[in-house]
Amino acid sequence: MTLNRDPECIFCKIVGGQVPAAIVVQNELVTAFRDVNPQMPLHVLVVPNQHIANTEALEPEHDGVVGAMVRCAREVARQEGVAVRGYRLVFNTGPDANNTVPHLHLHVLGGRSMSWPPG
Ligand code: AMP
Repeated sequence: MTLNRDPECIFCKIVGGQVPAAIVVQNELVTAFRDVNPQMPLHVLVVPNQHIANTEALEPEHDGVVGAMVRCAREVARQEGVAVRGYRLVFNTGPDANNTVPHLHLHVLGGRSMSWPPG
């Protein structure tokens, strides 16, 4: 299968191996790697291997890959030992959410107690 990739996109380059990252899980649909600027003891990003800009760009054809992202996030949480205590999954979309990288990604956050609601 040929995947849609954006040659200018940093996360497409990580998926393709052109930019180094600490990859924790990778399969045919998704890649999970450690955030370069972690905000929590566990901070991993799960991205689709194909380029999708953000949740606003999702179509019904992407339902499978979004499900794979969530299941991969759960796998990361279990593998990293935070599943029992708990973890948070976050999609940021747009400037009010401080979305900085225009390639869909799911933040997997854990390793300490978190406050709610977010600031
Ligand atoms: P967001 O603000 O939701 O767009 O999150 C983007 C995240 O990507 C931030 O937490 C960054 O620290 C992270 N990030 C940016 N570039 C890299 C990279 N090359 N490797 C790993 N994480 C990155």
